Amino acid sequence: AVEFRGVSKLYGALAVLKELSLSVPQGEKIALIGPSGSGKTTVLRILMTLETIQAGTVWVKGEPLWHMPKGDGLAPATETHLHAMRRHIGMVFQHFNLFPHMTVQENVARPPQIVLGVTSGEAEQRAQDLLRLVGLAQKGASYPAQLSGGQKQRVAIARALAMQPAIMLFDEPTSALDPELVEEVLAVLRDIALEGKTTMLLVTHEMSFAREISDRILFLDGGAIVEEGPPDQIFSDPKEERTRLFLKKII
Ligand code: ATP
Repeated sequence: AVEFRGVSKLYGALAVLKELSLSVPQGEKIALIGPSGSGKTTVLRILMTLETIQAGTVWVKGEPLWHMPKGDGLAPATETHLHAMRRHIGMVFQHFNLFPHMTVQENVARPPQIVLGVTSGEAEQRAQDLLRLVGLAQKGASYPAQLSGGQKQRVAIARALAMQPAIMLFDEPTSALDPELVEEVLAVLRDIALEGKTTMLLVTHEMSFAREISDRILFLDGGAIVEEGPPDQIFSDPKEERTRLFLKKII
């Protein structure tokens, strides 16, 4: 569902991704781990079309995303193409980014109506179902400011799911939360992972969680994948010295 081939990303003279290649088939759940500054978030932002790239190709569901030369980088062929591609992908950020002036129910129900043209009846029903899924059926009428961090993040997850994306990106979804609120968000992510059909790319520092829900772990360092493999192998028997050092430091 997602493929990077030889992708390079520069910020000025800083090479953040160096000819990075990775492939994630539909339905696979991967965790991106690695030191701060290794390029994990950048991978997600490129998929979200929030960043251009300087070289390489990114494919989403068999179609090129970034590919046309433009200025100092590459861009999608047309705006129409860009909009069509964005629909395949949902992203949950570290800091929830909810619409503050909308209720919880509206946060989840409005985007599919505006962007996908879903009828209001269907969107409201789906929003209720999703709020139940994330354990917030009773909070539909509240505003984001009235919720805890964990609750906000669960609304953000419901909102992303409401767009029915084939691919979900999670950028350190628990790192802004108080420790006692982390588990409730991880429980929701676990449910989504178990349900199976959504492709998930998760950037996380929660190693035990990454180990539990991922099909595969990618260890990034210095803008390249140093090692990848099944969670048990990466965590119990890493082949690369750099992976070993990283895990030793954080676990
Ligand atoms: P962390 O775990 O700390 O979130 P990360 O692996 O997700 O790190 P990225 O956020 O992808 O790393 O950033 C990779 C590098 O790119 C970092 O050195 C960062 O400082 C740099 N960077 C990110 N965004 C910009 C920007 N807009 N302008 C310049 N440099 C940037």
